Amino acid sequence: MANYRNVLVAVDFSDDSKAVVRKAQEISARNQATLNLLHVVEYTSSMYAGDIPLPEDLNLDKDLAEQAAVKLKALAEEMQISEAAQYVEIGIPKREIVRLAEERGADLIVVGSHGRHGLQLLLGSTANGVLHQAKCDVLAVRVGH
Ligand code: AMP
Repeated sequence: MANYRNVLVAVDFSDDSKAVVRKAQEISARNQATLNLLHVVEYTSSMYAGDIPLPEDLNLDKDLAEQAAVKLKALAEEMQISEAAQYVEIGIPKREIVRLAEERGADLIVVGSHGRHGLQLLLGSTANGVLHQAKCDVLAVRVGH
């Protein structure tokens, strides 16, 4: 297997997230690689940019991102990887995962094979999208089946 230097693991806080992070953690330790944790807040006011205007003061994106940052920190502490870099982005998960991987120079993206969107599918929609769009290696950790 290739030597990885910079691993990005994407978590959606579903039940299997810890198994996905554990796998990324093992690979990072074996390769002495940097580990980055990412959660993408899926809500975005741009989803409502059609006919229904959002009130100006409804800052849901920011609130959700702050809550996600707290959850991510707690997960990292629980899994004893609090030194891992932690990122919260807002947008479409597959796009943000690929974008951040490029921005941070990740050479491996780790996702779950299934998360919140994909239990009926062979591969979840985020996992599938990342696999198609990423420029680096992608590991889909088999979960949920
Ligand atoms: P899905 O394809 O959406 O069923 O999810 C498969 C995997 O994609 C999950 O196990 C996560 O690793 C990743 N993923 C899905 N949604 C998100 C999200 N909002 N933020 C970060 N990673 C995500």
